[in-house]
Amino acid sequence: MNIHEYQAKEILRRYGVAVLNGKVASTPDEAAAIARELGGVCVVKAQIHAGGRGKAGGVKFCKTPDEVREFARGLLGKTLVTHQTGPAGRTVRKVFVEQGCEIARELYLGIVIDRARGWPTLMASTEGGVEIEEVAARTPEKILREPVDPAVGIQAFQARKLAFGLGVPKPSVNKAVAFITALYKAFIESDSSLAEINPLVLTKVGDLVALDAKMGFDDNALFRHPDI
Ligand code: ADP
Ligand code: MG
Repeated sequence: MNIHEYQAKEILRRYGVAVLNGKVASTPDEAAAIARELGGVCVVKAQIHAGGRGKAGGVKFCKTPDEVREFARGLLGKTLVTHQTGPAGRTVRKVFVEQGCEIARELYLGIVIDRARGWPTLMASTEGGVEIEEVAARTPEKILREPVDPAVGIQAFQARKLAFGLGVPKPSVNKAVAFITALYKAFIESDSSLAEINPLVLTKVGDLVALDAKMGFDDNALFRHPDI
């Protein structure tokens, strides 16, 4: 089962994964009210079960609540076609209004189950914002893999290894370790089959935040998670 970005971010926030403030809206006026509440620059994002929204015009930086209202009006109820939706596209029923942030670098961080080994495996890449399948096809050496023994859980040295591999600057390494550890905990405790943060962003002030979030769940474990 897949969920929307805003729902994945709610789950991640509960586990201490760094996400920006934001709320979901179903009408243009609601979207404008959220923008007023957040203050400052906002990003409005179409909520559909597919990626590629940025390139398809489903994500926009807005400076004022009026701009947020107009962009939301243009998206809500419309069909968004991205390279992941197929030609039929998906109807946008909700938009997520989130604080804007100043991006220094876009990274990739994901967790999947390596079925051959039977272990959760972290994947990280400096090539954030690009689809991981594309990175895997073109520059596979740019994907770092870190399998985690589920009986032991993720160790700090593993998270540090990934942080250094991602080229996270020294003053931000502890934040990266905390981020990776929290993401692993969220993945395990919610019985996820996939957790993908693309991009994981290093901000101009040295914070690490999940700008996008995709989670999928093992249907066989859903009975344990009525909230999901
Ligand atoms: P998709 O993967 O569907 O294209 P993303 O959530 O990854 O959608 O957003 C696309 C791009 O928009 C990101 O790579 C990032 O550059 C930018 N972006 C998204 N959210 C924010 C935000 N809150 N602040 C600043 N930039 C953002
Ligand atoms: Mg993305």
